[in-house]
Amino acid sequence: MPQSPGAPRVEAEITALQAAAYKFPTQDQPESDGTMEWSATTMVTVHLEAGGVVGFGYTYTDASAARLIADTLAGTVKGHSVLDPQAVWTAVRARMRNLGQPGLGACALSAIDAAVWDAKAKVLDVSLSTLLGQARPAIRAYGSGGFTSFDEDALRGQLAGWVEDGLRAVKLKVGRRPQEDLARVHAAREAVGPDVELMTDANGAYSRKEALALAQAFAAEGVTWLEEPVSSDAIASLAWLRDHGPAGLDITAGEYAWSPIDLRRLLEARAVDVLQADATRCGGVTGFLMADALCEAYDMPLSAHCAPSLHAALCCAAGRAVNLEYFHDHVRLETALLDGALTARDGVVAPDPSRPGLGLALKDADAARYAV
Ligand SMILES: [Mg+2]
Repeated sequence: MPQSPGAPRVEAEITALQAAAYKFPTQDQPESDGTMEWSATTMVTVHLEAGGVVGFGYTYTDASAARLIADTLAGTVKGHSVLDPQAVWTAVRARMRNLGQPGLGACALSAIDAAVWDAKAKVLDVSLSTLLGQARPAIRAYGSGGFTSFDEDALRGQLAGWVEDGLRAVKLKVGRRPQEDLARVHAAREAVGPDVELMTDANGAYSRKEALALAQAFAAEGVTWLEEPVSSDAIASLAWLRDHGPAGLDITAGEYAWSPIDLRRLLEARAVDVLQADATRCGGVTGFLMADALCEAYDMPLSAHCAPSLHAALCCAAGRAVNLEYFHDHVRLETALLDGALTARDGVVAPDPSRPGLGLALKDADAARYAV
């Protein structure tokens, strides 16, 4: 509810803040992509009290970020109003100047910022998507997994399952054994049929020339998306691939952008066809809205990386958003541990406007067994 000039502000000072971490194991066995293996996903949560509500935010990172938030950043956050997310964002960034703002620091900021926005919406008794304003009521989702640890049957089964569930785009990991990647892509195409958008993610595994050769071969299978063919730090190589690769295949990156300036570097270098951003890394809701503004300025589509239940409202608000990543591990974790977790239906994810804030709450009893 807008306040008239001179009217007293809603009382919404942050009086308490808690952080915690939950380590959630992979489904059956360790998983891998082109450059990493993992056996669990760690969610770091923030709960803050303000104005009679509890704001909830989260990120995916190492459990040590919970200590950073609770021991070092909580004192900076307390006393601010949740009505002023930008003030909290700026204060936390300043507090981390000598600690390191990227990486763990950016994840910590992101979880705090999401909790502040969640609390702000709850204080105003609206959903976050209502508070931000909607460019659209739902956002297209693409199934993401297809791990390099899967055998061909598991790969086919997962991708075909998403198509059965109504998703119209799916992404598989490539890059661990480049000599097998074209066969995996071919199997994936067979599994999903000719009409489903097929996407790939190399997680920076390829060399530049290797990536170009595979980009051309993938494009012949109708692949439309090659994410991080080389490391996203190799911005000049990404730009070279974007210039030399097949016209129908988008080069994408941005999941390791920790700040608006990181995102701007990819855009300035003309390194991507679609900019990816992750609100759990790039500065929360505030950072994601900045990513959208950058995409508007650079005439660039925006794609949300992972954390689908968090990104739904943000992608509906972001004018440049084209899709969000419905990532297998995060869908499992969010469904298991978060009340209000969102499920893709008819190929889209839609935030629930009837639930205040993000509409998400940690299931304390279910989460407790995974507490770090
Ligand atoms: Mg990726």
